[in-house]
Amino acid sequence: MKQSLMILLLFLCLCKTSDAYALANDPLLPNADIIIDVGHGGIDSGALHGKYLEKDMNLSISKKTYKLLKKRGYRVIINRTEDYALSEDNTWSYGSRHRKDLAQRSGLANTIKPKMMLSMHINWSGKSDRRGPLVIYQNQSDSILLAGLLQESLNHLYGTDELPVLGKKYYVLKHTKCPAVIVELGFISNKADRKLLNDSNHQAKLAKAIAQAIDQYFAMIHPN
Ligand SMILES: [Zn+2]
Repeated sequence: MKQSLMILLLFLCLCKTSDAYALANDPLLPNADIIIDVGHGGIDSGALHGKYLEKDMNLSISKKTYKLLKKRGYRVIINRTEDYALSEDNTWSYGSRHRKDLAQRSGLANTIKPKMMLSMHINWSGKSDRRGPLVIYQNQSDSILLAGLLQESLNHLYGTDELPVLGKKYYVLKHTKCPAVIVELGFISNKADRKLLNDSNHQAKLAKAIAQAIDQYFAMIHPN
């Protein structure tokens, strides 16, 4: 038992060393703790309700989250700061516009190798009474931990008791190598959520709830 623990620790140390070496060898790449992946953009509005578009809400909440995390000392990268489609940047992969968009998001994360990626989205349901946040995780322990902490923090803000779910089919979760989660910030199809998601005060509270969960995550996973 003890010996297998030693082997595991040695393996983890070797992984850390080779990671550091890879980064040291690539001085043009930024070191990032977090990539904020801002869902949709440009021709791709995401979910919508009347004049309300998911891509716009994702952007304003992501920008607030980005600023707050930077203020707390994290090295943060945001992959969209205006209204445009990330597929336009993708001249390297084949497939539909939608697939190119998603490949661009995972490709950036896999190149920069941050410690985590948050993919920011707004949910939609045919049942207009469905509301509240939902965090979707990869099938790996750090993603599960991160999703649990984010869900708990967002539940507290919304007064909900939702549980995070495993996302087997999502391109971004399947193809991103670092721990990644999709954060569905509320439902555009629910009247109360829609109002909150467009409210600047609530957007700031969402950013704070996300930052608090990230603080907890880093305290547990990367204590130094
Ligand atoms: Zn979306």
